[in-house]
Amino acid sequence: MNPDFSNPALHSEGQYIGGRWLPGGGIPVTNPSTGAVLAEVPDAPVEVGLAAVEAAAAAAAGWRATPPRQRSEILRRWWALMTERAEELAVLISLENGKALADARGEVAYAAEFFRWYAEEATRIPGEFRTAPSGAHRILVDHEPIGVSLLITPWNFPAAMATRKIGPALAAGCTVILKPASETPLTAFAMARLGEEAGVPPGVVNVLTTSQPGAVVSAILADPRVRKLSFTGSTPVGRLLLAEAAKSVVSCSMELGGNAPFLVFDDADLPAALDGAMVAKMRNAGEACTAANRFYVQDGIHDAFVAGLTERMAALRVGAGTDPATQCGPMITAKAVAKIEGLVADAVARGARVRTGGAALDGAGNFYAPTVLDNVLASAAMAREEIFGPVAAVYRFSDEAEAIRLANDTEYGLAAYVYTSDLQRAFRVGRALESGMVALNRGLMSDPAAPFGGAKQSGLGREGGTTGILEFMEAKYYAVDI
Ligand code: NAP
Repeated sequence: MNPDFSNPALHSEGQYIGGRWLPGGGIPVTNPSTGAVLAEVPDAPVEVGLAAVEAAAAAAAGWRATPPRQRSEILRRWWALMTERAEELAVLISLENGKALADARGEVAYAAEFFRWYAEEATRIPGEFRTAPSGAHRILVDHEPIGVSLLITPWNFPAAMATRKIGPALAAGCTVILKPASETPLTAFAMARLGEEAGVPPGVVNVLTTSQPGAVVSAILADPRVRKLSFTGSTPVGRLLLAEAAKSVVSCSMELGGNAPFLVFDDADLPAALDGAMVAKMRNAGEACTAANRFYVQDGIHDAFVAGLTERMAALRVGAGTDPATQCGPMITAKAVAKIEGLVADAVARGARVRTGGAALDGAGNFYAPTVLDNVLASAAMAREEIFGPVAAVYRFSDEAEAIRLANDTEYGLAAYVYTSDLQRAFRVGRALESGMVALNRGLMSDPAAPFGGAKQSGLGREGGTTGILEFMEAKYYAVDI
């Protein structure tokens, strides 16, 4: 009989290096819904990081030479195993991250889909063949696996942020070292077990946890065999890592922070805009890089939108992620709650009104009440910083030009949402928005088949879609005399 995958103890047995589980402890993993310690995972020193590079480098030639069809079939089996174990994985994610089970189930399906999508892409790696404009020779472009890749992921999507990197890396023929966030490592180890079962050869995927990410990551990046850093996390850490990677000129893909505007024009379908607002704001209790951070609502629809949003937010059931009735789980840490409290206090001090919520909830877990603020001013700190919690901040605007100016008034440029029934306006505004992704009359944009990523200080490169695999490949040009 298969062990129960939702059991945290099963996934705290060791680092996964070169196909072996190296035991250890030192990093407690807690349940944000209760504060209870779920398990302890190993704390890698620099030497374990270097052992992971050895293992990934030793496996590189074999994996690169593995036919694309075979790589594809392994990824496909990994997708099937994740799908078979979906409920257990969802419970595990909900335990260590706190997100509501419905969100966790959605994440597992989304995460597994990266393996199925890249199983398909593995067999369709593109190349090019052209005649040089001068006619002197032919231009042939091949794509080769870039090499050993370091993957660093955040805690808010413990499964999906890992598969969004592992899928294209393995499809491209690269071997990887995954360093998951310290708050949510259990899901990463659980997926490594499924990878073993799917037939991923030893050393192709290595997973380690550490309490000194700076030192371990610097040592890994300094090894000349490591040719790729794919990072998802905050913009400040992304900046640090870009500087670190520059020392050995390592190729970087960066999926960083967001500050998504959500524009509602007078001509929007109000119930649809409210449905979309709830998804864009409350998926993962607001702990998403694509979360709507700033609601800009036009004068004519403003009051009805605020009333509708307040009613929906106030009706949400807050509770432990694993309680099936929960619609809004806890924040990841007490520190995250304190940050939200500070942002709300600052906005209120500048004249914002609390329509519902507005405070942390008593009790053992890290809970914050679903909150709606209106009359928020552009000077509020939350207009510039990620709230990363269940707080909807509503600002007012009068015309299209003002909406675009306010939406773009940020260093971030990941996602934006636009609600209007005027098709011309939708694309006119979409083109003017400085963001990598725009959802038109939709509250959800993430799709493994689409290029996900940001402009400005939200990142570099794209994950997913047909281009995601090229982030793990190097173009090689042959000048051919034929
Ligand atoms: P974070 O603090 O930047 O951490 C992300 C990862 O980086 C974790 O694994 C962390 O390890 C590691 N890390 C931290 N400091 C490091 C250092 N000095 N050197 C090397 N690695 C280091 O971000 P987070 O709080 O986990 O995640 C939330 C952020 O991620 C938000 O800003 C969100 O917008 C962003 N995000 C972006 C996307 C996207 O696709 N654009 C998707 C999801 C989340 P430890 O856990 O051990 O500290």
